[in-house]
Amino acid sequence: MSFDYDLFVIGGGSGGVRAARVAAAEGAKVAIAEDSRMGGTCVIRGCVPKKLMVFASEYRETFKTAQSYGWDVTAGAFDWQKFQTHLHAELARLEQVYRNLLNSSDVEIFDARAQLKDAHTVTLSNGEEKTSKHILVATGGRPVRPDLTNAHLGIVSDDIFDLEELPKKMLIIGGGYIACEFACIMNGLGVEVTQYYRGAQILRGFDDEARGLVAEMMKESGVNLHLGTNIVDLAPAEGDHAPDPAGGARGGMGMPANERTVLSDAKSGPVWVKATNGDEAVYDAVLFATGRAPNTENLGLEAVGVEVGRRGEVIVDAYSQTGVPSVFAIGDVTNRVQLTPVAIREGMAFVETVFKGNPTAVDHELIPSAIFTQPEMGTIGLSEEEARDQEPIEIYCTSFKPMQTAFAGCSDRVLMKLIVSKATRVVLGCHIVAPGAGEMIQLAGVAIKMGATKEDFDRVCAVHPTMSEELVTMKSPVRTA
Ligand code: NDP
Repeated sequence: MSFDYDLFVIGGGSGGVRAARVAAAEGAKVAIAEDSRMGGTCVIRGCVPKKLMVFASEYRETFKTAQSYGWDVTAGAFDWQKFQTHLHAELARLEQVYRNLLNSSDVEIFDARAQLKDAHTVTLSNGEEKTSKHILVATGGRPVRPDLTNAHLGIVSDDIFDLEELPKKMLIIGGGYIACEFACIMNGLGVEVTQYYRGAQILRGFDDEARGLVAEMMKESGVNLHLGTNIVDLAPAEGDHAPDPAGGARGGMGMPANERTVLSDAKSGPVWVKATNGDEAVYDAVLFATGRAPNTENLGLEAVGVEVGRRGEVIVDAYSQTGVPSVFAIGDVTNRVQLTPVAIREGMAFVETVFKGNPTAVDHELIPSAIFTQPEMGTIGLSEEEARDQEPIEIYCTSFKPMQTAFAGCSDRVLMKLIVSKATRVVLGCHIVAPGAGEMIQLAGVAIKMGATKEDFDRVCAVHPTMSEELVTMKSPVRTA
């Protein structure tokens, strides 16, 4: 049977684009469909714009500490519109880079929504129908709001980059990656940030000591963090819930809908909020950072026989293959590990398996990651709590004031922590809370992925004076478990 393509990719995010390009480089005839902007969550409404906002937000502190180093500078005002214009120009540039890469790889691009019709056919929203030997679902995920009356009054992370004005007062709901990162970003940009997290400590699942320090530092830097607290009610701030007349800017979605990256049904205007602790307040914006769901709706998956799990995720095996042999899925839509580099690796493994005849399972073990809070957290492997349930361990840990900000009189602390197996001496986990922790954990991750022992770390000479030198100079465990 002949098909229009060897591979049809649905979704032009990091994973889909990489798989399309690499398959095309192997000589496959490839097409890709994307109904929004090429680049997906990471490039258009996730990692990239978020990181640029992190950079923007860090300058306030930099200006402050610069004075201690003799510089006659003050932060002045932050111009959101100026930054936003530059940000969107950069995102447009990156989107074009993605398109150029696909074009130069001879991947045919359809700016359309695709739906599976059968195991080898997709229907496009422009009315076309295409057949393909293999179909790769790489449609990613989307932020979800909690099941709450008026939840549409809150914005989600997709909307942040298009805010017409920075809110003066903002409430962030959630305690995960996105909630904590944006709490720090907005706080750094001068927004008065309140954060509600329903659990006992933010960043559930990460090492207790590390997340405890992040929470402490966030509070110290001005984030009004309420633990064990959730939102119970929200409404437009009018009538009984009138906003404070001195309340300042409105955190609206004023940009025309057709200019926005992703359409949200968020309404503009101040929002009255009631919390589980009885607090009532009006905020210029409420951000729901309450998790993400796989984009599997209206894809035709069930009709074709592709199994979808409880959270809406495509069920795949270790080779990213669904129960329908010609249909594969990678990235956030499979809800395995929601990280861009993982989606890219899944895409590469898929091409290796299907187009290079070399069945390659994706390795989901020991994935380093960073949370771009201020300070950042970099982490790989087991937390102390996970490790001690697994085997006897030694914990090497130090927390101290880093030289650069201590000189400026700041009380910031950093943390370097290694979890070591008593039996094998292998480093089971590494947790860093410090400026630049993301950069550090990438490198520590190489050693840990190679199976380095504590003694391997000890054999490495320190780089002095740095924060990360502590990782190779911790002589005695602080405790065993
Ligand atoms: P997370 O799953 O990390 O966090 C969701 C948060 O919302 C949790 O604190 C959760 O609480 C809370 N929550 C869920 N439902 C409700 C509710 N109904 N009411 C109140 N709170 C609720 O999701 P994110 O959206 O922050 O991020 C999604 C994924 O994206 C991450 O897991 C990560 O893989 C990826 N990501 C990675 C980044 C990076 O690498 N730096 C940056 C951003 C995202 P509880 O803990 O109690 O469940």
